[in-house]
Amino acid sequence: MKSLTSMTLIKVGQSRKGASTVEFLIILPLFILLALVLWQLVLAGVAVMNTQAALRDAARVAATTGDEKKAEEVGRESFGKSSQFKLKGLKVEIENEEVTVSAKTEINMIFMKNMKPMSYSDRAEAPVLKAYSGAYGMIGEAGGPLLTEGGILGPPIGVWKKTSGFGYRVHPVTGRLKKHTGLDLGAPHLTPIYAAEAGVVTRAGASNGYGNLIVIDHGNGLVTRYAHMKRSSIYVRVGDRVSRGQHIAGVGSEGVGTGAHLHFEVMYNGVFVNPEKYVNRSMVARN
Ligand SMILES: [Zn+2]
Repeated sequence: MKSLTSMTLIKVGQSRKGASTVEFLIILPLFILLALVLWQLVLAGVAVMNTQAALRDAARVAATTGDEKKAEEVGRESFGKSSQFKLKGLKVEIENEEVTVSAKTEINMIFMKNMKPMSYSDRAEAPVLKAYSGAYGMIGEAGGPLLTEGGILGPPIGVWKKTSGFGYRVHPVTGRLKKHTGLDLGAPHLTPIYAAEAGVVTRAGASNGYGNLIVIDHGNGLVTRYAHMKRSSIYVRVGDRVSRGQHIAGVGSEGVGTGAHLHFEVMYNGVFVNPEKYVNRSMVARN
């Protein structure tokens, strides 16, 4: 009786074990398949994002420089590199003041090497921004405005110490988290401030929070702003046409609780952008 019970138990145990092995054998491949499908979807998602970045940057460069080749180069750079997907075609065409960028990306099928890769195509369009001509002067040297990143603006001061970068930070005076819309370049009082590019002065005087503020419009949506100088050390007036490198003011500490520095801002199409991307890199490195 005793041995019969234990034998039954063994049988039950064995059959249980058998069943779970079968379940496992069915479920494991399903899980692997699901993981592969998910991985494939993630890859496709990243490929689409990279393609969009390439389209956007190529369109931006073409619209602002009119240079198809350069736009294609920048687009390819924005796409980046991957062993799983490739930018098969990126074409930039400018016709009748309109930019058209088309891109095609191929994404490898990770679990079926012999299968044809997935492909994704899209296009972007943008109007060519009119070259800024005449009295304002050209931005860039080749006769076209170069509003791309990578050091087109001249240094706003000669030698400085970067005391605060662009982006979110805890405000040194209020202690609150706040977006810092410019780059702080520490330098002694009256250190010359230079126009980062040729343009027209659209503002030169008192401004809340800035102490005093100089704004220079360079055309094509590019504006630079200089703050914290004393009223008496502003050497330009609204309407003045200034050249790149012109001595426009002296460093001060008006309107701030910290030491003497230039608060330098770059606006592109009405949006504050990181000045470090636009100012000549060899100059920004001095911090
Ligand atoms: Zn600042």
